[in-house]
Amino acid sequence: MNAAAGNTLGTMMSSPLTIDVLVRRAASHGDTEIVSRTPDKTLVRTTWKKVAARATRLAHALVRAGVEPGDRIASLMWNHSEHVELYLGVPLAGAVLHTLNLRLHPDEIAYIAADAGDRMIIVDDVLLPLFEKIVAAGAKFERVFVVGAEPKGRERYEQLLESGEPTVLPTLHEDQALGTCYTSGTTGKPKGVVYTHRSTLLHSLVLALPDQLSLARRDTLMPVVPMFHVMAWGLPYGAAFVGCRLIMPGPFLDAANLVDLLVGERVTAAAGVPTLWIGIRDLVLALPEKPELQPGLRMIVGGSAAPLGLIRDFDTLGMPIVHAWGMTETSPVGLVSRVPPEADDLDYEAKLAIRAKQGLPPPLIEIDVRNEEGSVPHDDRTVGELVIRGPWVAGSYVGGHLPDRWTNDGFFRTEDVAKIDAMGIVQLTDRVTDLVKSGGEWISSQELENALMGHPAVKEAAVIGVQHEKWSERPIAIVVFREGQSATAEALRAYLAPSFAKFWLPDAFEIVESIPRTTTGKFLKTALRKTYKDYKL
Ligand code: AMP
Repeated sequence: MNAAAGNTLGTMMSSPLTIDVLVRRAASHGDTEIVSRTPDKTLVRTTWKKVAARATRLAHALVRAGVEPGDRIASLMWNHSEHVELYLGVPLAGAVLHTLNLRLHPDEIAYIAADAGDRMIIVDDVLLPLFEKIVAAGAKFERVFVVGAEPKGRERYEQLLESGEPTVLPTLHEDQALGTCYTSGTTGKPKGVVYTHRSTLLHSLVLALPDQLSLARRDTLMPVVPMFHVMAWGLPYGAAFVGCRLIMPGPFLDAANLVDLLVGERVTAAAGVPTLWIGIRDLVLALPEKPELQPGLRMIVGGSAAPLGLIRDFDTLGMPIVHAWGMTETSPVGLVSRVPPEADDLDYEAKLAIRAKQGLPPPLIEIDVRNEEGSVPHDDRTVGELVIRGPWVAGSYVGGHLPDRWTNDGFFRTEDVAKIDAMGIVQLTDRVTDLVKSGGEWISSQELENALMGHPAVKEAAVIGVQHEKWSERPIAIVVFREGQSATAEALRAYLAPSFAKFWLPDAFEIVESIPRTTTGKFLKTALRKTYKDYKL
């Protein structure tokens, strides 16, 4: 026997998946740029190396200020490089970054800050008026640091940074909390989800996989999704992971400013909700000369379904849509819609239909669609509730609220209604709460909306159920037309007729200027249901 080999098996290093690894990696990306649009509309350029160094100083400064492992530090900020510093630096101090949704009502923000137990806060100077309202609503923070030139009597963030040193920091554990986001709360009170170091690093890895979002070093990525919405879908971490350029739009999320950045900064991948992309499509189509966009610019879209017509329009513009599904509870990437090789021989229209579905789960994520009888067959017809489990899916909410959202076998119940085809591709048909029940049969509001948004005159459409004496509920469609376009109710119904059972067709079409939205850009169906509560058919 070879004595040197000994009797024990060899080992692998058990390197923890903690943020310090990502900060060192970010530093290694050197002069690769992070570009931010400031409130005065100028572009400020910094580098990954500088941001990593400042994040390390921030971590040290926080520890020096008495921040303990697990303490929650809130941010009230737009998308810019200082916010990226917080993404890296707060967890580096062992603390938990809580990104507050600046679009919520101040009372609601105060509730969320209290529920999370936020100890300190870092605020953009332009958001101080909102911050003062949050304080007036009862929120309490031990210290308040202000980013920008006008701290209005509060402490300066830059001074906090100066008090830190590039030095040794607390030892981190991979299952420790790194960040927290609250669900957008289309129903009920917002619920807190806590991401760990491990879940975040693993999720970054999946963002880079070719069948997922294929983030790569040569990308220039523009996360339009706000940094308070599921940690900007984890994209700043994914960018630190692969070392791509990062373009941050600051407070300016209108189509003109976004197109200006797409062109000027040669963006190769942008991420946002469909509403924003609808605005960009309409602007680009209306421009007398097509803007000089990067060939193959990937328009990553999630948060709501990407209507098929939108995917088609962007194809014609040479800006392919990558459609993904996720939730605050899933970090968010849970499904990505890519045409699988077994569909290679299908024609363009059939492939479009696949891309408009929500897609397949990435590695390490398991999904199932279940009804009362168990897992539904993969027949593209039978619907059930989508359930999901994996290393970046929440295991519980802050405060242990709603434990029933988890099944006995460890899946999270999404409350999304879905069906699944023979290739395993998932298609969402609705939120459980948005389904319309007519004469005992379910009607999917989302399928009707997506179909309606394929009509050339329709910009946006939302379908809700209204009370009906005979059928208990009937669907009506709330429609916004594209500029200068219109169509009659008969024409819209005739457009839908070939694709749906007759009883699915909306009984009425209400034409409006705009559809109310949640703070993260989804149709606010609760508000629509309230408006049309006494609707007479
Ligand atoms: P949030 O936690 O605010 O991100 O909301 C998550 C919910 O948004 C999901 O449960 C879905 O209902 C919806 N959602 C997200 N992505 C998509 C998508 N690609 N298609 C349809 N609905 C989506």
